[in-house]
Amino acid sequence: MHSQGLIDAQRKAKQAASQLNLKVEIEVEGTMKQEKIDRVRAAAPDLFHSSIASLPDGWTDIMTTFLQDVSDLGEGMLTPAEVRFERSASGVKAFICPNPDMQWTEAKALQLINAQRQLTISSQHTCEDCGADGHLVPLGDRVRFVFCQKHEDRARQKLTEQVQAFDERIRFRSETSFLFQKHSNIWLHVSDHNTPILREALLNIKTIVEERDLIGKIHVTKIIDSEGQLFLSVRYDPLVDVATRLDVDDIVHHAQRLSDEASLKANRGVSCDDA
Ligand SMILES: [Zn+2]
Repeated sequence: MHSQGLIDAQRKAKQAASQLNLKVEIEVEGTMKQEKIDRVRAAAPDLFHSSIASLPDGWTDIMTTFLQDVSDLGEGMLTPAEVRFERSASGVKAFICPNPDMQWTEAKALQLINAQRQLTISSQHTCEDCGADGHLVPLGDRVRFVFCQKHEDRARQKLTEQVQAFDERIRFRSETSFLFQKHSNIWLHVSDHNTPILREALLNIKTIVEERDLIGKIHVTKIIDSEGQLFLSVRYDPLVDVATRLDVDDIVHHAQRLSDEASLKANRGVSCDDA
């Protein structure tokens, strides 16, 4: 999918999501790994700022270079400045507050400005995933990314998959929409192990509602995923017969039982080292 196609697809998915009151997060961004954060910090501990951790891994080296350049301007025990960083559409912006106790000659001030400018320029040409030569890539409608060709292809693929998965969720929500009250903000995003269980339960309830001509008389009012355990609440119109209520209750109980087992299994998976 081309950039514009992806941006349009993402925008369409988000619009559909907001119409259905669904939450959406389509992201490709990553943040810096601890080992890399430590490397940047080691380059100039006095200048380190927590905002560096929100920058991507591939920019470790350019951040290190920038901090060293600024650090070199220091005088004796004096740290030359306080610096904070922000990612913007045109790369990394460094916000610098120079130390007023220092002797700022014109040459030094220029060096500081140059370092700041160089950081932004470098970030426009450095792959944010691996640090290789990169280029600006418009991807998604929020930010522009900087990628080498390999990581551009991978990010594009990832975003395409996210948009498709999201479209699929919206389709499913539309298909089962009559199970929810109007303007309901029920979110169908649950833990991975609960997704097939929830979908099967909703489809089974949908079948009953359709076959017995009960559209608008049976509503799913709550879907809760609490620490991996799925809970569903259903509200019945007084006209709904007892047999149907029992059938739907059965589906709900069955789903919750399956979720109970699945969440135990998922938790066991996490703590298997303790065995
Ligand atoms: Zn790369």
